[in-house]
Amino acid sequence: MISKLLIANRGEIACRIIRTCRDLGVATVAVYSDADAGAMHVEMADEAVRIGAASVAESYLRGDAIIEAARATGANAVHPGYGFLSENPDFVEAVEAAGLIFVGPSATAIRAMGLKDGAKRLMEAAGVPVVPGYHGAAQDVETLAKEAEAIGYPVLIKARAGGGGKGMRRVDRAEDFAAALEGAQREGQASFGDPACLIEKYIQSPRHIEMQVFGDATGAAIHLFERDCSLQRRHQKVIEEAPAPGMTDAVRAAMGAAAVAAAQAVGYQGAGTVEFIADGSGPLRADGFWFMEMNTRLQVEHPVTEAITGLDLVALQIAVAEGQPLPLCQEDVRVQGHAFEARLYAEDAAAGFLPATGPLDVLSFSAGARNDTGVRAGDAVTPHYDPMIAKIITHGPDRASALRRLTRALGETHVAGCTTNRAFLQALSRDADFAAGQMDTGLIERRGGALIADATPTALDLALGGAVFSAGPGAVLDHFRHFGPATREVRLADAPVDALRMVWDGRTVTAEIAGATLALADVDLSDTGLSYSRAGQRHHVRLHRNGHDLHLQFPDRDVHLALAIPGAGDEAGGGDAVTAPMPGRVIALMAQVGDRVEKGAPLLVLEAMKMEHTLTAPRAGSLAQITVGQDDQVSQGALLVQFDPET
Ligand code: ADP
Ligand code: ADP
Ligand code: MG
Repeated sequence: MISKLLIANRGEIACRIIRTCRDLGVATVAVYSDADAGAMHVEMADEAVRIGAASVAESYLRGDAIIEAARATGANAVHPGYGFLSENPDFVEAVEAAGLIFVGPSATAIRAMGLKDGAKRLMEAAGVPVVPGYHGAAQDVETLAKEAEAIGYPVLIKARAGGGGKGMRRVDRAEDFAAALEGAQREGQASFGDPACLIEKYIQSPRHIEMQVFGDATGAAIHLFERDCSLQRRHQKVIEEAPAPGMTDAVRAAMGAAAVAAAQAVGYQGAGTVEFIADGSGPLRADGFWFMEMNTRLQVEHPVTEAITGLDLVALQIAVAEGQPLPLCQEDVRVQGHAFEARLYAEDAAAGFLPATGPLDVLSFSAGARNDTGVRAGDAVTPHYDPMIAKIITHGPDRASALRRLTRALGETHVAGCTTNRAFLQALSRDADFAAGQMDTGLIERRGGALIADATPTALDLALGGAVFSAGPGAVLDHFRHFGPATREVRLADAPVDALRMVWDGRTVTAEIAGATLALADVDLSDTGLSYSRAGQRHHVRLHRNGHDLHLQFPDRDVHLALAIPGAGDEAGGGDAVTAPMPGRVIALMAQVGDRVEKGAPLLVLEAMKMEHTLTAPRAGSLAQITVGQDDQVSQGALLVQFDPET
């Protein structure tokens, strides 16, 4: 029996595992880094042990410290969560050598599935359809380019050790192959310590459909149906659902059989996911899906499977790890309704989904959804870890009603303080093709900016902001308010107009904006919202004010307004400086001081969390200064390259 479980992870997944342990009566031990001393998972666990400094290498990736924490607290099992050490076979062996139960598959199964090339060879042998391509040993550019030619463009180069969408390059033309290979190899080496790549045919109109599988110590294996994870950006999942739209009994039977065969080929025990790429150019076909990889852990999106099956996957993992047989067989697993999950991230959708960091001044969720999170209002998203804030999961009797609930829940999720993808997710949940179940992994990219609400304040936004700012400190007040309407001037920074005149007459506020007026009647203002009437309708806007900054949240838009700070002039040198758009690490420098560059020339590559970002020259000119070196860590806004203003 597992009596005390140490969770070798952080954030939402640690909290989610602790919830099931409480339900089962299992005691819990959290581990934490210095950055997480006050984190939610630490608060929720029965005991908590510090394992090191903030960086993952000094904390959540330190298997030795984690096993020592288990020993010190008397835990008899370790759950790895996802990410971090969850797919590290050496860690599994060390856990078992310490006499502890690992809640997950064997080191052998993880090793067999760990590298995408080896896994594909194994699956071919087990009769599972794999994506056509080259997964042999040769790594020289000549051989691989020849293989790509034989496969036929477009192709996808993948680092065999890759994960999380990293180390992948789509190549459409032979002339781009060598540079793309170099990029994928470099990313594979930098992120996973392994530059080796495989090449796959790029499946057109691809849909990502994966099967949840479970195996036990008796050798039994079942699947818990599929999830469709086709809504992706940068090859990473954004909204997932179960079951897959358009899934038929025949295709499900074929995919389920392939997934179970994959699991049994490696003697799989516990929860795993077999990922397939499916041809989405027409209806799903039993011969139209191919194995991509197996993730030998609990998946981020497992809640949608829980919602449609009524099962607790963490409880099942614990039972299997204790050596119990699966409590159900394939025929017992039934689909009830439909479920969606949206991943709320700290990121800037308008800036190409750049990861963001910052405080979570406000964080509250809809009562109409399951909200899995590992942060609370007052916490912060730091550059140390994954920028996911929460997963919002809805269930309904059918797809349309589950989706309608998702749209509503996203509108009712209130988050302020750092930039998030909330409004983007809400727009995506209302996309007509998505609503019709017509999607592939390119949908988000094809929409371009259409899913990204214009953040430029409208006249109404300005009036609302003017009302908030003029009702409190920061506005220039006149002294006649006791004798009639009071007029107050509000000066804004970075807004379409510099100044608003706000006239307060009882509860009616009239904004004078560049000569036009806009009136809000029956204004009710609190710290968290503003209600007003216009044209006979009552409206409510959520808001959060932090000194000079104001965040207005509409269900489908987030608007930021700021008071002008007197005396703050415009920064000099605009166009002459390249600054860091996010905190990150310099992984390549392509220019030197004194170089003359053309506009758009790549200057350096910054790596932040899950992505590489190439910074280019904003104009042609000579470089006067480069303030960073290879491997330097830089903060957001830091000056990186300075142009010579004379050139
Ligand atoms: P990772 O380990 O990073 O998750 P995967 O091999 O699972 O890598 O692929 C990630 C995503 O890339 C998939 O979900 C899919 O959107 C896309 N993808 C992978 N292989 C192909 C392919 N052969 N054709 C088209 N898209 C693909
Ligand atoms: P999934 O396939 O479960 O959706 P992804 O393929 O997006 O997950 O990413 C692989 C796993 O690694 C995920 O569980 C993700 O949360 C985790 N992960 C990715 N980057 C990081 C990071 N910087 N820190 C911690 N975990 C990470
Ligand atoms: Mg994958």
